[in-house]
Amino acid sequence: MSGQASRPEGASANRDTHETAILTIDLRALADNYRDLSDRTRPAECAAVVKADAYGLGMAQAAAVLWRNGCRTYFVATIAEAVDLRVLLAEAVIYVLNGLLAGTAATFHQHGLRPVLNSASEVRDWANYCSSVGEALPCAIHVDTGMNRLGLSATDIDEIRGMGDLWQTVTLSLVMSHLACADDHAHAKNGRQRERFEVIRMLFPKALTSLANSAGILLGSEYHYDLVRPGVALYGGHPQRQGDNPFRPVVHLMGRILQIRDTARGETVGYGATRTLDRPTRIAVVAVGYADGLFRALSAGDGEAGLIAYLGPYAVPVLGRVSMDLVSVDVTDVPEAFRQRGAWVELLGPNVSAHTMASQAGTIDYEVLTSLGSRATRRYVGI
Ligand SMILES: *Cc1c(COP(=O)(O)O)cnc(C)c1O
Repeated sequence: MSGQASRPEGASANRDTHETAILTIDLRALADNYRDLSDRTRPAECAAVVKADAYGLGMAQAAAVLWRNGCRTYFVATIAEAVDLRVLLAEAVIYVLNGLLAGTAATFHQHGLRPVLNSASEVRDWANYCSSVGEALPCAIHVDTGMNRLGLSATDIDEIRGMGDLWQTVTLSLVMSHLACADDHAHAKNGRQRERFEVIRMLFPKALTSLANSAGILLGSEYHYDLVRPGVALYGGHPQRQGDNPFRPVVHLMGRILQIRDTARGETVGYGATRTLDRPTRIAVVAVGYADGLFRALSAGDGEAGLIAYLGPYAVPVLGRVSMDLVSVDVTDVPEAFRQRGAWVELLGPNVSAHTMASQAGTIDYEVLTSLGSRATRRYVGI
């Protein structure tokens, strides 16, 4: 069978006869992306953001590969993610972006985790805990420079500067901020946030500094500071709106053809009969749906362009609505040898980037990656 012409090396997509959807995660591409990001940002330290199960790709597998490739500092969102990561990486520096919730300081201490403190009261709580155990434990502060999401406000900063010997009580290991518009390299807010960060970091001269996520890294070395915090670029996402994606794709989603059917001109396809066929059409029904991350917004009703999937080297447009478990594609123009029951259709991979899928669905690469779900068989390759 030649329908797997473009599937990634090592995926052996048709070995197991019972499988209908396969998510292949290329750990070599992940390692390459990490090394690429490190090279771009040297001498800054390249950390890795592995929150949300490494953007849906699997934190356990991702963290092991990142560690082997020299990554020593990690960011997660929640304490639970951090505790899981600690089990995997005993020596790593682990920061928790969601900060210090009341009553959690001892958990941070017990697992050797560092809170990213987002307000003056969190700073005070951490200082109180450190005093109570007689140890100046490490932490980061996140200062808000214009995102107005998490982070210390100008008032918070004044307040903690007035806290006198507080900075002997805790160890401030990192001062960080987050860019709101780095995905647009021409946006004036980038420069304004950097100027603001310049002023604030001078107030904490002993701490390391960090401003850039993936997109921020591409803004240039003046955004790199001591440590960069890429997430989406590691996982093959395109961090910026402009230009080509410099990073390698990591995720490949293949769905199996369950049935091929011939339909007459004038027939409709799928729920809601949203697509009327304007020619006799051969349809392949593929075993991937929105429960597997194929957004319903990728549907193709009349006059609506949906996702273009691939069968081998052939483009096969989606027809009608994407349903939970299934999607129909037009294989009329595909040679007979390729359009076979049991063949594999590429929904995400070398021909269909996460960025293409995201743009088509009106969302961003991040949401494509974190929506892939847990039903498809996962294959980790490239190690
Ligand atoms: C998620 C996150 C990152 C990583 O962002 P990417 O755009 O995925 O590189 C970095 N810093 C903070 C504060 C984050 O919340």
